[in-house]
Amino acid sequence: MSALRELAPAKINLGLTLGPLREDGRHRLVTVMQPVALCDSLELIPAEIGSSGDRTLCPGVEGENLVDKAVARFRQASGWSGAAVQIEIEKKIPVAAGMAGGSADAGAALRLLSRVSGISDEELLMAVARELGADVPGQLQPRRYLASGAGEELRALPEAAPFGILVVPSDHGLSTANVFAEADRLALPRSIAELESRQAELVGALAAGAAFAPPELLVNDLEPAAVSLAPELAWTLDEVRSAGAEQALVCGSGPTVIGLFGELDGARGAALALSGRTPAPFAVEPWYPTVMPNANSDGATA
Ligand code: ATP
Repeated sequence: MSALRELAPAKINLGLTLGPLREDGRHRLVTVMQPVALCDSLELIPAEIGSSGDRTLCPGVEGENLVDKAVARFRQASGWSGAAVQIEIEKKIPVAAGMAGGSADAGAALRLLSRVSGISDEELLMAVARELGADVPGQLQPRRYLASGAGEELRALPEAAPFGILVVPSDHGLSTANVFAEADRLALPRSIAELESRQAELVGALAAGAAFAPPELLVNDLEPAAVSLAPELAWTLDEVRSAGAEQALVCGSGPTVIGLFGELDGARGAALALSGRTPAPFAVEPWYPTVMPNANSDGATA
């Protein structure tokens, strides 16, 4: 078997409307998931002879890897008993940044496993993805989606014309679970009726391929919770607006902040203007399913 490779694009949330808790303990939400051309790179090779089983190498990420879990669950669900594999991950997506890096890797690992095993049962792959986490189904075949449920119910949206995204990472992570808990404490969740009307408004606003929704729909309800836990984010949001972004918002559960620009050049200029920050901000474009970025490049531009 020769090495197989897949790219795992990061995602940003172009707004997030938060709803009430479901019985399974997850929150309902509505969000636009946009893959961006900042990719981890995964390579699958046969495990070394004598190795005790499948393994994942992921420099920079401590603890259990979601890709290990993806391999184990894929074997269990499909009954595939092929020889042990090793998956090596080159991380480019900031960790615990609200850009779904782990979910993107898990989605890419399932694509690799589907290729190596010859098992392409979409329902099975989707069921495994759902088990791995609410953000994983949208990473199985990355594209622009309107996600609802807890993020696992996907409706494909028309891809948008290219636009510019300024990504401002933070030097520390925020736990997704803590941000949702803080949102509950602040009583941020909206009613199911509000959630449903927001969903319809977003579908209408994005039906013709607009880059992003108008300001009143481009709101991240988790933002006040993220700012409450990391107050310096309020300052970062101001900086991004001052650098010329049409919209500035916390990405997902944060702490990454994004700025949206009509053109990539606008985002590049803002990245230069904010280059004194650590970690350095960078500009990136949407990632499109039909145009695979070069596997040797991370797609990001400073
Ligand atoms: P979420 O998808 O919950 O929004 P996130 O995008 O904020 O998460 P990730 O980069 O996926 O954050 O990391 C969340 C945690 O998952 C990290 O603390 C890390 O230890 C763990 N993790 C497991 N596997 C991976 C992986 N392949 N890449 C990054 N983190 C991983």
